[in-house]
Amino acid sequence: MKSPRRIAVIGSGPAGLMAADGLAVAGHAVTLFEKRKGLSWKLYIAGGSGLNISNSLPLDAFARHYTGPDDHWRACLAEFGPKDWIAFIEEKLGIGTFLGTSQRYFVETMHAALLVRNWKKRLEDLGVSIRLNTEIKDFQAADQGGWDLIGTSEKLGTFDAVIFALGGGSYEKDAPAWPLMFAAKGMSFTPFAPSNTGFEVKWPEAFLKEAEGQPIKNILLQSPRGERKGDLVITEYGLEGTPIYFAGVSGVVHLDLKPDLTAEQVLERLQKTRENLSPMRRAQKFLQLSPGSKALLFHMTEPEAARDLATLARLIKHFPLQLEQPRPLLESISSSGGLRWENLDANLMLTACPRVYCAGEMLDWDAPTGGFLIQACISQGHWISQHLSFG
Ligand SMILES: Cc1cc2nc3c(=O)[nH]c(=O)nc-3n(C[C@H](O)[C@H](O)[C@H](O)COP(=O)(O)OP(=O)(O)OC[C@H]3O[C@@H](n4cnc5c(N)ncnc54)[C@H](O)[C@@H]3O)c2cc1C
Repeated sequence: MKSPRRIAVIGSGPAGLMAADGLAVAGHAVTLFEKRKGLSWKLYIAGGSGLNISNSLPLDAFARHYTGPDDHWRACLAEFGPKDWIAFIEEKLGIGTFLGTSQRYFVETMHAALLVRNWKKRLEDLGVSIRLNTEIKDFQAADQGGWDLIGTSEKLGTFDAVIFALGGGSYEKDAPAWPLMFAAKGMSFTPFAPSNTGFEVKWPEAFLKEAEGQPIKNILLQSPRGERKGDLVITEYGLEGTPIYFAGVSGVVHLDLKPDLTAEQVLERLQKTRENLSPMRRAQKFLQLSPGSKALLFHMTEPEAARDLATLARLIKHFPLQLEQPRPLLESISSSGGLRWENLDANLMLTACPRVYCAGEMLDWDAPTGGFLIQACISQGHWISQHLSFG
């Protein structure tokens, strides 16, 4: 490169790491700022339950999983999508990946430690300067052009371009302070709200005594947002699990406790024997229900319904549940809300601040679990590294 530029990337999550990587490969002098004492804290948390890095859905279907401008997602994913990200992890970071159930990609190690370690080494080899324990509090147009970055008590340097990748609002003990930095410059922001989070359910005491911690396995959840198969876990306050995260809003949802059987097949099985068995015993014997499903039918069904085979069969296929409020941001996998799209141009640059860009969960988009969150951050980080222009 003829004239490398000084570029600051703020935030070391997947969006920031990918932006720093692409810009360093392009030959720029990149400084990566992170307020914590280590890189990528949220990737470590995400890896706690198996680091699901992406999804094998075709791009069209993939892009439909996001809120926000459809054309942005299509372009961004087409330029650096799941296949590119998987190849990057395998070839550039030297880590194996595999395709698990429900079309989800995982790293072989399942946790984030090796991915972060290898990526840090690669960035250092590419000449990226990493400054930990350094929180950016403000940015201001510099007298000589470019942007001054302000830390807690000092100016941290002047940069030709700045990329913010500050993350969302979930899992943080205190609400992130950075939205104020943008609000002070007149930019609009949708408040963070819990997303991909558990929901509260008013369980009867007897139910909880039997079922707390038990799985409701292999169900199909029907909600106003659509249908999602998977497992749920009964907790003291309600329910956790992918189908509930997908449902996403309070109100009535329905569980199909036997999605692989039709309503007629369920009824046939309940009617299978002439033995003098109660409908509940029949359900237990001929439908192999998981412990949580059994407890639901046993404790949360009107006694008359439980005495009639046809009614019980209908309930097994369409069990109503009232979801109360979502669990708080502190417990949520991700957040909806963030810096609004109207502040950005198609390259993810702030229209009010030339050569200041934003990427990742700090922006006002949302997506379900299944690898869509990390993939979006990666694709946006990469997008900026390719579209940042000094023209
Ligand atoms: C329990 C849990 C499980 C998850 N599992 C998955 C999963 O399996 N698959 C998936 O796709 N997604 C998962 N996610 C979501 C995923 O981790 C996030 O969507 C992703 O990390 C967001 O990336 P990001 O780069 O936008 O921000 P982050 O990863 O949040 O990184 C932002 C960084 O910026 C730093 N920062 C913030 N403000 C400043 C400042 N002013 N100055 C300097 N640094 C600053 C922060 O310390 C942070 O390190 C999970 C999340 C949680 C909580």
